[in-house]
Order: sequence, then structure tokens, then C-alpha cells
Amino acid sequence: MSAGGPVVIVGGGLAGATAAESLRERGFEGEIVVFGAESHLPYERPPLSKAVLLGDKSSDDAFVHDEAWWREHDIDVRTGSEVQSIDLAGRRVVTTRGEQPYEWLVLATGSEPRHLRLADESGKPVHYLRTVEDSLALKDALTEGARVAIVGGGWIGLEVAAAARKVGASVTVHEGADLPLFAVLGPEVAQHFADLHRDHGVDLRLGTPVTSEDLSDADLVVVGIGAAPRTGLAEAAGLEVDDGVLVDELLRTSDEHVLAIGDIASQLHPVLGRRVRVEHWDNAIGQGKAAAATITGSAEPYATLPYFFTDQYDLGMEYFGNVGPDGYDRVQTRGDFSGPFRAWWIRDGVVVAAMQANDWDASDATRESVGQAPPEA
Ligand SMILES: Cc1cc2nc3c(=O)[nH]c(=O)nc-3n(C[C@H](O)[C@H](O)[C@H](O)COP(=O)(O)OP(=O)(O)OC[C@H]3O[C@@H](n4cnc5c(N)ncnc54)[C@H](O)[C@@H]3O)c2cc1C
Repeated sequence: MSAGGPVVIVGGGLAGATAAESLRERGFEGEIVVFGAESHLPYERPPLSKAVLLGDKSSDDAFVHDEAWWREHDIDVRTGSEVQSIDLAGRRVVTTRGEQPYEWLVLATGSEPRHLRLADESGKPVHYLRTVEDSLALKDALTEGARVAIVGGGWIGLEVAAAARKVGASVTVHEGADLPLFAVLGPEVAQHFADLHRDHGVDLRLGTPVTSEDLSDADLVVVGIGAAPRTGLAEAAGLEVDDGVLVDELLRTSDEHVLAIGDIASQLHPVLGRRVRVEHWDNAIGQGKAAAATITGSAEPYATLPYFFTDQYDLGMEYFGNVGPDGYDRVQTRGDFSGPFRAWWIRDGVVVAAMQANDWDASDATRESVGQAPPEA
């Protein structure tokens, strides 16, 4: 497979931007075109529910590079330009403005928030959080005394809750599971997050689905009930899709000229030995780099374990690994959640996931503990 022809990247998010940048770092000299449906240059999303929402950072700080950088690196980033279809046999994409041939196509179309009809029909101002515009609109709406109903006690719901409390809004979080973050962390550690938010004055309503009446007193509603991978384009083209675009360890799809990376990629993971689709920042970067390696012929399997971080109030935490469908037998913890804290999820005597909270010196050791015997209790 040659590396010289045009590389077309669909999706100007972090994964697509990293793939383009890494191609140049690897000495790829051919044409690179990045199509981005949004009107912005590629940017990172984590600050949108943290520093940007809190007003600590401008949304400009979230940009991966400024316009001059893309120009200097001869990467043609076409903002406001949506790819409408892919012709796999003819190796070209069709956009709102015409056609573009490719030698290699990298799909990095990301995900979009799942909608909640009950909220959309509530008659209240309803906020979802995915884009710069969403973040700035929500920031304006979060004011002292505002009654904010958050539907979903996942990462985004809880980060918004923390930001809203910081400005003095009154916050209720509605979560159908018995604890926030229950599905990811399990009851042992999820309980600590519940306590953290209650200690900061959040009214957590758990274990029952939200109703229209629950939203009736709110001034605004924030919905954070997860995101769906944008796989429509890949599916319509005839690529293999099953909760994500199916890719191998080199990020190759069922078509040998097409790769998929970031939130949409359901990858056969060489270390985990099964498919994973990871909706996290680090995965967008790692798979972007790995796609560039595949295109330039160095074939480096993407084997990094899933990694995630969050900031809520004064808590900063990192989580490494993936418990997966087989679950865990027990959780071992060290320290107090209000200070340095660590946790290990263990199955069959092996750590399958690990986290540190407010213990940044332990970051490397926490990562390295995954796949090993648990540390001394
Ligand atoms: C508010 C928020 C906070 C987050 N915080 C964290 C965090 O703290 N830690 C963490 O690990 N992860 C976090 N994430 C997740 C992380 O941001 C994502 O995993 C990451 O953005 C995925 O990158 P991506 O490039 O795959 O997709 P995206 O960032 O979604 O980018 C995809 C881009 O493709 C464009 N696109 C889609 N279809 C087309 C088309 N047909 N033509 C052209 N362009 C198209 C979209 O408009 C979009 O701009 C957060 C996400 C959000 C929304």
C-alpha cells in the first residue's frame, strides 16, 4: 500500500487533527485534507465541561493549533464542510462543495449526544454539551440561584453539576441507576462520587427514571445521558459497523483504504483481546497517531489501555484499564477519597482497572498496575 496519495480525513475533532499532525511528523509529504462539519478549527472537548464552563479558560484555549500552524504544515483544514457520502469503489468522498479523491480515507466523525424526548418536550430551556457553542450557552445559563435539573449522573452530568454549584446554582441530578457512575465504577467507588456531590450541596435523586414532573420546577435542564457514535456515513458506504466502525489493531476497516479512529472506532484490542470502543480524549490522540503509522507503513498496533480523567470540585482523577463484560471480583482501595486515594478493580487475582484521585505522583504506578497482581493491601 503506497503512502503518497491524498489522505482525506473526515471529522475535524481531536482524532482527525492528531492523525493529520502525526502524518507530517512522520514525514508524509502528500496532500492532507481534513473535512470538519463545524465552523471551527479542530479543538479539544474536555475543557468544555470544566475550565470553559467555569469561565477559567476561553474556548480559544481549546484549539489544537491556530490557523497559521495548519497552513505552515500544509494541511488543508476545510471547516464548515460536511462529507455527505463515500464512494469506496471510486475512492472519493462527496461533500457539500464537490468531490475529493483519496488514496487513504480516515473516518473520525466522533459522537453526538443522545437526546431525551421527555426533556426536549418539557418546555424548558434544554442544554446538551458537545460543542463550543453548547458550552458557551450553558455557561451563560448557569447563574447564581438558577434551578438546574441535570438528567444523567455520568461524567458530563457530574462535571456540569460541579460547575453549576461553583456559581451558586441550585442543582438536582436525576440518575436512574442506584449511584452516579455506577456502570463504570461499580458501587464501591461510585458511592464516593455520590458523597462528594452531596457534600457540595447537590440533590442527587437516584434509582428511578426521571419524569416530566421532576423537571417542572427547573429553570433549565441539562441532559447528559451518553453519546452515540456517528457511524451513518460509514454504514451507508457499506463498511462493517456494529456499535462503531469495526477496525483491527491497525485501525483498518473492512475496506483496505479506509481507517476509523476516535469515538467511532470499535477496535480489536491486542491487549484486552476483545473489541472496545473508547469515547475518551487519550484514545482520540493515540488512535490518531496509530492511523498515521498505518498509513506510512510502520504498522504499529494500537495497544494502549483505555484512559480517562475527570475534574470535579477539587478532585482530579485518572482511570486506567477497562473492566469489560466479565466484571471484577473485588475492589481494593488505599487512602481517603478527600485526600490522595487509589483503587484497583481485580478479577482472578489480576488488576483489570485502576484509578488515582488527587495523587498525581502515583499516576505512572497506577497505570502500570493494570495487568499485574494487586498491590499489598
Ligand atoms: C463536554 C465533553 C467533555 C469531555 N471530557 C472528557 C474528559 O474529561 N476526559 C476524556 O478522556 N474525554 C472527555 N471527553 C470525550 C472526548 O472529548 C472525546 O472522546 C473526543 O472528543 C473524541 O474525539 P473524536 O475526534 O473522535 O470526535 P469528536 O471530538 O466528536 O470530533 C468529530 C468531529 O467530526 C465532525 N464530523 C462528523 N461527521 C462529519 C462529516 N460527515 N463531515 C465532516 N465532519 C464531520 C464533527 O462535527 C466533529 O467536529 C469529553 C467530551 C465532551 C463532549
